[in-house]
Amino acid sequence: MRAPVPAAAHHYSRGVAAKRQQSRLAQRLQGIPTSIFSEMSALAVSTGSLNLGQGFPDTDGPPAVVEAAVEAMRSGRNQYAPGPGVPELRQAVADHQRSHYGIELDPHSEVVVCTGATEGVAAAILAFLNPGEEVITLEPYYDSYVANISMAGAVRRPVTLRAPDFRLDVDELRDAASDRTAAILVNSPHNPTGTVLNRSELEAIAAVAVEHDLVVITDEVYEHLVFDGHEHIPLCTLPGMWERTVSISSAGKTFSFTGWKVGWATGPADLVHALYSAKQWLTFTSGAPLQPAIAHALTQESGFYGKLAGELQDKRDGLCAGLRELGMRVFVPEGTYFVTTDVSGFGHEDGLAFCLALPERAGVVAVPNQVFYDDAEAGRHLVRWAFCKDQTLLDEGVRRLAAADLEA
Ligand code: PMP
Ligand code: GLN
Repeated sequence: MRAPVPAAAHHYSRGVAAKRQQSRLAQRLQGIPTSIFSEMSALAVSTGSLNLGQGFPDTDGPPAVVEAAVEAMRSGRNQYAPGPGVPELRQAVADHQRSHYGIELDPHSEVVVCTGATEGVAAAILAFLNPGEEVITLEPYYDSYVANISMAGAVRRPVTLRAPDFRLDVDELRDAASDRTAAILVNSPHNPTGTVLNRSELEAIAAVAVEHDLVVITDEVYEHLVFDGHEHIPLCTLPGMWERTVSISSAGKTFSFTGWKVGWATGPADLVHALYSAKQWLTFTSGAPLQPAIAHALTQESGFYGKLAGELQDKRDGLCAGLRELGMRVFVPEGTYFVTTDVSGFGHEDGLAFCLALPERAGVVAVPNQVFYDDAEAGRHLVRWAFCKDQTLLDEGVRRLAAADLEA
């Protein structure tokens, strides 16, 4: 019997020609490669390179939160949690939304805990989109959106954020909406560009959503990681948006526990219930002992993420300066873990080829933005660098890049 070919068989490093039409992989996953984050982190390990690719911090979040998880395990909270999440975490999420954004939530019907924001987004897409319906996304898009939209049999309709500013083109957004559109999926603060959508951009999205009566899914995982006084405004707080919006957050990003995979979705009861209807058939329920620990984080460690944002801003500035000095054009991000640069100054038109060669040339791993675009030309020359890393590692990364021959 022929062995099934896992999705991981299609690697960027083996070229796009490696698409396996003949495999047993279902059509909805064909042509969707291994996640670039897995691929680049594996490359970092196999080449012993510094990983400025995948967005995870080198330093864990508050020790007291780890202790709370250990305590939860020791005190027997090791069996299935209630499907929508443990009550204290749902209450803590409701309190967080009130204190930061003035959003009043019923923790019983308007909050659902997910296995990371990834599951929240997947459940939302599966819950709200019928086969053939279109979902508008900002491109460059987070890679899981593409797979999830395909799994739902839906169709993505990207609206491109273009260098150098990566702002929303409101006309392009309006043109993207039609009677086939069912939803808009918005990510702000935006990975990989670092754009934090401002009020007038959010108002434009709201106007389109209301005009076409769309569901809106917002991926707000970097809500607290914004710089220079920029403000993250949840789209659900704009007029006409509450009743049509589910908002998705991640404790991984807010508290530097990306490996815990705890996130949550909030919104009006009917939408949260629909999302939960899908979530229950994905994981049924999320990791039990981690949930009281994240409740502890939200109630006791609210100072953590403000401090983290300050530290990230300093690291951003350092890395941007270092990359600029090497001769790259740097697009300074307003938020997130990431800075995007243009590598065409080195004679590289193709950021993917640049990134695949970088471990050998410099002992550093970065991520090519072009894999997040349908309009590959718009992202071909762009490369993303993560600065959520220890300062010594960032310094060493710049030192290695400076010592390497980066010319095409
Ligand atoms: N959305 C975006 C934009 C991300 O960058 C990430 C990576 N953390 C996720 C979703 C996934 O979050 P989680 O790890 O909580 O599943
Ligand atoms: N969100 C992180 C990034 O953009 C990685 C998460 C993942 O690996 N799926 O790099």
